[in-house]
Amino acid sequence: MSKFFCNKLFRFLSIFLFLNSFISPVRSSSALAAWALKNNGVLELRTKSNTKLKAYFKRANNLYGDRFWVDFPGELQNPRTLKGNGPIKEIRLGKPIKGKTRLVIEFNEKSDLKPLTWRMIGLDENRWRIKLFSSKLPFNTIGEGLVGKGIKNINENKNSIYLKNSNHDYFQLPDVKQNKFSVIIDPGHGGIDPGAIGIGGIRETDVVLEVSKIVKKLLSEKGVKVRLTRKNEVYLDLPPRVSFANKTDADIFVSIHANASRGKRRDINGLETFYYKGWRGRFLAKRIQKQILKVSPGSPDRGVKQSRFYVIKNTKMPAVLVEIGFLTGRIDARRLEKTAHRKRIAYAIAKGIIEYLSKVG
Ligand SMILES: [Zn+2]
Repeated sequence: MSKFFCNKLFRFLSIFLFLNSFISPVRSSSALAAWALKNNGVLELRTKSNTKLKAYFKRANNLYGDRFWVDFPGELQNPRTLKGNGPIKEIRLGKPIKGKTRLVIEFNEKSDLKPLTWRMIGLDENRWRIKLFSSKLPFNTIGEGLVGKGIKNINENKNSIYLKNSNHDYFQLPDVKQNKFSVIIDPGHGGIDPGAIGIGGIRETDVVLEVSKIVKKLLSEKGVKVRLTRKNEVYLDLPPRVSFANKTDADIFVSIHANASRGKRRDINGLETFYYKGWRGRFLAKRIQKQILKVSPGSPDRGVKQSRFYVIKNTKMPAVLVEIGFLTGRIDARRLEKTAHRKRIAYAIAKGIIEYLSKVG
């Protein structure tokens, strides 16, 4: 706690105004796309273009340590707290009021901060940096999503490398009428929303993005048109995923997720596939569930179930949401960690989709 109980609210950082700062009409989606507090004490932010930020600092009181926070337009999906290290007690992402996102950095007691010297610098129209503490303090970088430029290439390259080495026989899918079908694949979460975090820090967003890209590649090779709702590590709210799909004439929508159990129980493993209603959705869910179980021996069949998840409820085409295993489960996490298994799961989802398209059309 600070020696001087100085509770004055510093609004020492100005508001960044841009004349064309028209915020996206999707009111609910957070303008914060990625952030990282680096080991040199610099906080880096990536936002939507031309976002107005407001930054604040408050000295410690008897409840909290020194706090620095930034408010962003748009509402956060998953409020959460990340444990700090070194001079940082914790980092919280929340929604202080409806329609806002707040990133709070709370410092430990006795942090010797000089907030009046801090300056938020805009690097370009969507990137920001501010130095919060000395690089002499030992600190391990914490962050979510990619803050730098050139974010598009990273995952792309990784995928093209391992796909070249794939065992081709294994990926022999049944044929389906060429250039007739169109599919939307929706990799869950992304950017500042990592989804489930499992054993050893394995993140849902990474797993499902990789799997989704392989599904796309496999289906494309069979002459099925595939569109992904996100192609890289970006945050994407649920409504834009649905409106993107509904603007197309796609035959089906498949959202790919991985599970986490309450209390991170390692004994809970298994696969499940959800549909909202209608025999087509149910049929698609059954085909996919059957195929993913085949490549996941020993992992329980949690079944095909009805659910009202936003993305499958509001899409106009038959839609399913598949949970490819528990990242908190001993059996599933060990597998989903490996590219070889992600490829098998992707193959299984693609096979289920092709079976559906061949039979239902
Ligand atoms: Zn998920």
